[in-house]
Amino acid sequence: MITCFDIGGSFIRHGTLREDGSVIENGRVATPGADWEAFVSAIHSCAESAGTPISISLAGAFDERSGIADVANIPCLHRRPVLSDLERALGRPVVITNDANAFALAEAVDGSGRGRSVVFGIILGSGVGGGLVIDGKLVKGFGGIAGEWGHGPVLDPTAGGQLKGIGHYACGCGQIGCIDAICSARGLERIHQSLHGITASSKEITEAWHQADVKAASTIDAYSTLLSRALSVLVNTLGPDVIPVSGGLSNDTTLLDLIDRKTREIVLAKYDQALLLKGHFAENGGLQGAGIVARMSFREWAA
Ligand SMILES: [Zn+2]
Repeated sequence: MITCFDIGGSFIRHGTLREDGSVIENGRVATPGADWEAFVSAIHSCAESAGTPISISLAGAFDERSGIADVANIPCLHRRPVLSDLERALGRPVVITNDANAFALAEAVDGSGRGRSVVFGIILGSGVGGGLVIDGKLVKGFGGIAGEWGHGPVLDPTAGGQLKGIGHYACGCGQIGCIDAICSARGLERIHQSLHGITASSKEITEAWHQADVKAASTIDAYSTLLSRALSVLVNTLGPDVIPVSGGLSNDTTLLDLIDRKTREIVLAKYDQALLLKGHFAENGGLQGAGIVARMSFREWAA
């Protein structure tokens, strides 16, 4: 039996890969953030019988060339050769996939992108991430970087009248003005603060917008304009058939519809149907994607 894991900053979700390819979730435990021994023991206690493989979806960057993870919010994994260290500590074969890639793969193989050629799955949550799947195959790119559209300071927040007043926000990657810093849920909150001097959560802002609050409406207008501009470059470059969305903001389908409309208005191809939509696996893409990677990596075990 293969065990699949979805490892995030707060929780480790775990489940068993079934014969039909789906993953049945068995539960979740708190992520031991700073303690490597406790982390190994948490994984060990959730895994199926000794020696069987495990497949992990990790909320952070993972470089397959070096085997080193870049996960600032899980200090015991950060800059560690996680793959080899885990295999040694657990005595099991391990495969690790970035969570955005796992979500994109789940959507392309079994979800909203099933049967489509180019699927670009994106995460709009506390950060911005993404994964590219072409003809059912995950495109990893150089050093596993493909799909990471959230970083790179490409937006000019001073451009355009309605966008004046939006600051050059610092990004966790060390640059200033990244898509991640502006178009994540935290970015939405920063824009609201910059434009109106109001501190509110992304959920409070979208709820106020739904109640026709004028200030929230102008924040959402600026946010969706900036995000759709960033997305339009991606769409023109990749030509996706569908962009399934995961992450906290994907729960607001009215917001997704607005971003979808603004994006389709400015891309070169004419999309007659929605391009951006809430992913079928928006809630459990990590586990389902880890299951698909396990099926591909450990065929003899998955059969
Ligand atoms: Zn950045």
